[in-house]
Amino acid sequence: KVTQIQIIDWFKKIAETIEENKDYLTELDAAIGDADHGINMDRGFKKAIAQLVQNRNSDIGTLLKTIAMTLISSVGGASGPLYGTLFLRASSAVAGKQELTAQDLANLLQAGKDGVIQRGKANLGDKTMLDALSPAVETYTTAIAQNRSLVDALREAVLATEEGMKKTIVLVAKKGRASYLGERSAGHQDPGATSTYLILRCLLEVLE
Ligand code: ADP
Ligand code: MG
Ligand code: MG
Repeated sequence: KVTQIQIIDWFKKIAETIEENKDYLTELDAAIGDADHGINMDRGFKKAIAQLVQNRNSDIGTLLKTIAMTLISSVGGASGPLYGTLFLRASSAVAGKQELTAQDLANLLQAGKDGVIQRGKANLGDKTMLDALSPAVETYTTAIAQNRSLVDALREAVLATEEGMKKTIVLVAKKGRASYLGERSAGHQDPGATSTYLILRCLLEVLE
């Protein structure tokens, strides 16, 4: 099970980790975008944490909705609405819950991924955050269907996410600013796939 406190800890860890990786994410975006991904994400998650602290007694669905609304209004760029939609859909998937079962977490991840696809219209292999998110959802769902524990399933999912993130290096971007570069976008890791990996790794770190 994942408790409400652990969800709060997850977002605290995300905010810390994004801050630590702010320059790295921005450098990745400098190569194929407009050099703001780390800045956007750092601003958004810092604000999200401030909101979360004020809502610390809310159920998990409400917490995720608070995060989503803050990201939508403060991150900007492509990633703000995309991560906002991810957490908004995730919040609906677990509405009213004080703790999450392994299956609840599967539903949360699946709903988040569906939201990113609906919002961004990316396909797998377009060199976006979806290339990190999608393997995570698939691997986690398969693992819990095989009766793996929540944490074991998540550990496998994080490895799959890392692999998906690394695979974006060779891809040519088909969505977002990086797509303006065409073939020249190849050879660089996607910043959004990298932040998605960090976000999921933080959940594992909180639960381990
Ligand atoms: P912007 O490109 O507007 O400056 P960011 O730099 O914050 O926004 O975020 C860029 C990231 O957003 C990309 O690395 C990519 O992963 C993600 N992204 C962009 N467009 C899409 C899309 N249509 N679907 C999914 N992810 C996308
Ligand atoms: Mg950018
Ligand atoms: Mg930008």
